[in-house]
Amino acid sequence: MEKVFELNKLVRPNVLALEAYSSARDEYTAEGSKMIFLDANENPNETGVNRYPDPQQKKLKSKLAEIKNIPTKNILLGNGSDEVLDLIYRAFCEPAKDNIITLPPTYGMYNVLAGINNIESREVLLTGDFEPNVDEIFKNVDKNTKLIFLCSPNNPTGNSFSRKNIAEILEKFEGLVVIDEAYIDFSEQASWIEDLDKYPNLIITQTLSKAFGMAGIRLGICYASKEIIAVLNKIKPPYNVNELTQNRAQYRLQNISEVNREIADILIERDTLSKVLLEVKFIKKIYRSDANFLLVKVDDALKRYNQLLSKGIVIRNRTKQPLCENTLRFTIGTKEENLKLIKVLKNLD
Ligand SMILES: *Cc1c(COP(=O)(O)O)cnc(C)c1O
Repeated sequence: MEKVFELNKLVRPNVLALEAYSSARDEYTAEGSKMIFLDANENPNETGVNRYPDPQQKKLKSKLAEIKNIPTKNILLGNGSDEVLDLIYRAFCEPAKDNIITLPPTYGMYNVLAGINNIESREVLLTGDFEPNVDEIFKNVDKNTKLIFLCSPNNPTGNSFSRKNIAEILEKFEGLVVIDEAYIDFSEQASWIEDLDKYPNLIITQTLSKAFGMAGIRLGICYASKEIIAVLNKIKPPYNVNELTQNRAQYRLQNISEVNREIADILIERDTLSKVLLEVKFIKKIYRSDANFLLVKVDDALKRYNQLLSKGIVIRNRTKQPLCENTLRFTIGTKEENLKLIKVLKNLD
């Protein structure tokens, strides 16, 4: 039977009934300095940030639209991916009724946000080779399953999921599929942005926190159909992306070649590190990575974690995650940091 997609059936009834909040300023930002703004009770004295920021972040979105080759109407920005993911929950999941599916081992925020929003999270383990278990996922889907979260490249395993598995989920699932592409700019895989027109139930999230080197400004990005973006726009706080963030992000995006150079350097460092780590005697396995970190299996994760900490190196112990027994996650640092890491690792007993 052919699947019929009706977005409005997935939107929470209270959200469907909402009018989008519009501030007087929505319409006039473009006019800029020619207008006299006496509408928002701001302080008129110039501080560089005395005015409210553009609630629709038009300039920043046009820059992103150009780089990612997608219309601005398909973009929503938030205070980090964390806010974007929270908006997705609040738009589509009815507390104490709906459920979502996550695929551990994966990013912890999906479950944290499910908890905050009082939404049941159904966990379907990845397979032994860290791929979605498509049959098991669909055994867990019922009429209240609104979202499936796919993190690809996945944190903490580092791999990208096969396109065939993702496509199968997109095609069969009647709810929304959220693909978290926080690490896509490090990946050899193409972004699913290219397939947005094909899948009305696809939501992609990205961030400036990793490859773009801007974790401190908090800028998360959502790409989806213009209908989904319109729903999220209804519930987002009007000024959720502040002026300083919008300016810094635009400046960085204007220097995209610098970003690309840094990404290339990090990838070279990652591949060097993954070879050298093999020479460390207690390292049993290095998983293939499509991101800016390496998942590594060791003899005793807690012991090695504490040893590194005592030498002033902080990594992530992932041993408590399912399928990740005795694993550590190393973020790729600078060349100097990585050399230091290797030196310390080789001298541990
Ligand atoms: C780091 C990371 C993010 C980034 O979140 P921000 O709130 O944008 O900083 C999102 N998803 C995954 C899987 C991550 O590892």
